[in-house]
Amino acid sequence: MKTLEVSTKLTPTIQTETDEEPPSSITSSPEAEEEPPSTPLNRRNRFFPKVSDRDWNDWKWHFRNRITTVSELAQFIPLSPKEKAQLELVTKRYPLSITPYYLSLIDPADPADPIRKQAIPAIEEVTLCTMGTEDPLEERKHSVVPGLVHRYSDRVLMVLTDICPLFCRYCTRKREWKNGGWVRTASEVEAMLDYIRQHTEIRDVIVSGGDPLTLATSHLEEILSTLRRIKHVEIIRIGTRFPVVLPQRIDKEFCDMLSKYGPIWLNTHFNHYREITPEAAEACDRLLRSGVPVNNQSVLLRGVNDSVETQKKLCQGLLKIKVRPYYLFQCDEVQGTEHLRTPVEVGLKIIEGLRGHTSGLAVPTFVIDLPQGGGKVSLQPNYVLAQTEDELLIRNYQGHVFRYRNPRPPKREELKIQPEGVRDADRVVV
Ligand code: SF4
Repeated sequence: MKTLEVSTKLTPTIQTETDEEPPSSITSSPEAEEEPPSTPLNRRNRFFPKVSDRDWNDWKWHFRNRITTVSELAQFIPLSPKEKAQLELVTKRYPLSITPYYLSLIDPADPADPIRKQAIPAIEEVTLCTMGTEDPLEERKHSVVPGLVHRYSDRVLMVLTDICPLFCRYCTRKREWKNGGWVRTASEVEAMLDYIRQHTEIRDVIVSGGDPLTLATSHLEEILSTLRRIKHVEIIRIGTRFPVVLPQRIDKEFCDMLSKYGPIWLNTHFNHYREITPEAAEACDRLLRSGVPVNNQSVLLRGVNDSVETQKKLCQGLLKIKVRPYYLFQCDEVQGTEHLRTPVEVGLKIIEGLRGHTSGLAVPTFVIDLPQGGGKVSLQPNYVLAQTEDELLIRNYQGHVFRYRNPRPPKREELKIQPEGVRDADRVVV
């Protein structure tokens, strides 16, 4: 079968035959399937018992052996003839790509598995596709040169490729999948860098994709080192899902390279606590030890992480691996994702169920990225019940209501000496 050859530098013409073991020769083992996937080895053995440690720990092996067709998928996940026919239909419009590592996280016996829902297509992607738009954030309109989005004054987004190890079914840039795998050419990258050089107000560059870590480390280094030489670029951010879907990519060579060009921040998206595996934890630890802080941007998804309990486990789990829960995104209004979108109230209830009930560090900011490029807006549950110029009525996380004096500069006649000391007379629990 066709596999993706990962050379030192990916180019748009990367579909080649390879001598490597094709995915079709990776057979699942029925006996091993009965083992609970509680350890990394059990998980791997359930689907890939014949794969050597060397291959399993090599991100390029995983990349080459991504599951990209329905018939390959059916070797691992039980699919009825009807499901197969539906998946064939969906993948004509929205293709499929799953790394062996991420596949190993799926429970094949559970059709409602939250990992499965993120990776395996659903018929609703085509039956509900009249809802939403292809490019709700209007990234094309805000592109100043091909691949460079300049929406906010002090920061830009560099989209270097449309290639991803996993096609996340809720992806905002799902429109790009059908374009067959492109990487920005050297002259396109140079045009982006030139724009950044000329706009001294840009202090923050977000390197994204697709997934930019599909590029070879040496290729990424050329871009990062050039960005670092631009004096007004203060920080570089990398948006990648590799720590979650293929943590083997976060190897020593990559981390050593990043450590030379800091400050670099890395944003990833864990969406479910079962994605926090020992392999993912080690990848994040390697990044942190290289001086790269890791933040998490999860997407709120129906049937995946749309409960307080799941989000609490996710955010507490992230803190344990020293990853900060940064954003919880309302799923964008993208065509082909409607079945995964939740009412806005769900996000508000989740924040309400976290704030005060667990460490503040475990509470992400709930955000809607507004359509038509309106930008991000954070939403909070309403804790202020009433407000005058002098005071507010505020409810706390337990539902108790408090009066809160609104500080303002005192008037001259209010300045009195209080001989008995300060009293706590103006705070009343209602
Ligand atoms: S890794 Fe990011 S860009 Fe790629 S499919 Fe997933 S959400 Fe989309």
